[in-house]
Amino acid sequence: MRKSGQFDLEAVEMAARAASHQLGAKVLERLLSAPAGYASTLACECGRQARFHQMRAKQVLTVLGPITIERPYYVCPHCHRGCSPRDRELDVQGVACSPGVRRMLAVVGSESSFEHGREQLELLAGLAVPAKAVERHAEAIGADIAAREQTEIQRAKQLDLSQVGGPAVRQLYIEMDGTGIPVVLAETTGRAGKVAGQPAHTREVKLGCVFTQTTTDAAGRPVRDQDSTSYTGAIESAEEFGLRLYAEAWRRGWSRAANKVVLGDGAVWIWNLADRHFPGAPQIVDLFHARQHLWELSATLFPGDEKARKRWLAPCLDRLDKGKIEALVKTLAALRPASEELAQSIHNEAQYFERNAVRMRYPVFRAQGLFVGSGVIEAGCKTVIGTRLKCSGMFWTVRGANAIIALRCCRLSRRFEDYWVDRTAAA
Ligand SMILES: [Zn+2]
Repeated sequence: MRKSGQFDLEAVEMAARAASHQLGAKVLERLLSAPAGYASTLACECGRQARFHQMRAKQVLTVLGPITIERPYYVCPHCHRGCSPRDRELDVQGVACSPGVRRMLAVVGSESSFEHGREQLELLAGLAVPAKAVERHAEAIGADIAAREQTEIQRAKQLDLSQVGGPAVRQLYIEMDGTGIPVVLAETTGRAGKVAGQPAHTREVKLGCVFTQTTTDAAGRPVRDQDSTSYTGAIESAEEFGLRLYAEAWRRGWSRAANKVVLGDGAVWIWNLADRHFPGAPQIVDLFHARQHLWELSATLFPGDEKARKRWLAPCLDRLDKGKIEALVKTLAALRPASEELAQSIHNEAQYFERNAVRMRYPVFRAQGLFVGSGVIEAGCKTVIGTRLKCSGMFWTVRGANAIIALRCCRLSRRFEDYWVDRTAAA
C-alpha cells in the first residue's frame, strides 16, 4: 500500500514476475540436471575414447534467471581434452547465456546502444546483464551471420552458386551507396581524412539493397513490392563489396529476373562494380543527386544573386529531367567563369554529366515504368546504418561495426528467424 492508501499494482506485478521467474528457474534447474543416465565413455575428437570424470556444475543465465546445471564431464586419457556433450545439446557450449537469452541480447543489441539494450532487458524481461554482455553476444551472433554470408560470397567468387527457385521476378533493382561511421583512432591510422592533411575519423560502410517491382500505379509510377527489400553491407573494399552484392542479388533471383537495373549516385566505384558484376543491366544515376550537382554549381556561379541563379538553373534542370544531357553539357561549356577555380569546377561538372549521359535518359526510364531515384538505399543508409552506428559518442572498431551491420541487415531483411532456426539445426 502506498502512503496514499492506494494499491501499488506496479510494485506487486513486478515482484510477482520476479517470484514466478525464480520458481520457474528452480523447475528448469531440476529438469536439466535430472540424472538421465550417462555413458561411461564417449568418442573424443582425437579418435579415441574419453572417460567420465565427474559431474560438474555450470552457471547459465536463462530467460527465467540464473540457474546451475550439473552435467557429466569427460576427460580423454590420451589427449587430455575435457568436454561436456550436454553443453552442445543445450546450446550453451562456451557461453554462459541460454539460447533464449542470447536471442534477446542480439535483438536489443542490434536496435540501440548496448547500454540501452541492458536497460530494456532489465525492464522488459527482468534480466540483469551488464552492457558488456549485450555487446559481446550481439557481436558474436552478428559475426556468425557474417561468417555464413562469407561462405556464400566465396561460392559466388568461384561461380558456384546454386540456382535459387522462386516466383518469376519482373523487375529487380540493385542500389548501393556509401556512408561514413565514426571509428576508434586505431582504425584510421594512415588514412587521409576528408579535409586535406587531417586524419580521418570515419570509415565508409558500403551498403547495398535489392528489391523488386511488379506494377506501376495509375499514374504510371513504379511501385516497390511490399517487403521486398533486402540489405547487405560492410566496411570493406569495393571489390569485396561487389561480390557481396552479387551474392545477394543472386539470392534474390538475379538469374530469373526478366529485367534488372542498377541505381546509384554518380560515384565511380559504383559503376565500375556494376560493369563488372551486373554487366548488361541498365544503369541509372539517381535523379536527385544529378539535380544536386546543378543546384550546387548554380550557387557557386551566382553567389548572392538569387534571381540570376534561378534564371540559369531552371532550364538546366529541365534539360536534365528530359535527359538532354548533351544540351546541358553545352550550356555548361558556354559559361565564361571569372576565375580559374570556377572554370575547374564547371569543367568537373561537365565531365560528370558527359560521363553519365546514358545513365540519365530519364524520359526513357520513366516510359519503362522504372524508378529514377535511389531513395531506397538512401533511406537504408539512415535506417540500417545511421540510426544505430552514427550516434554521438559512439566509436566503432571495424570488427564490431561489421558484426552489428551483419546483424541489422539480417534482421531488416526479415531473415533473423530463419537464421536462428538454421543455426540451431546445424548445431
Ligand atoms: Zn582425445
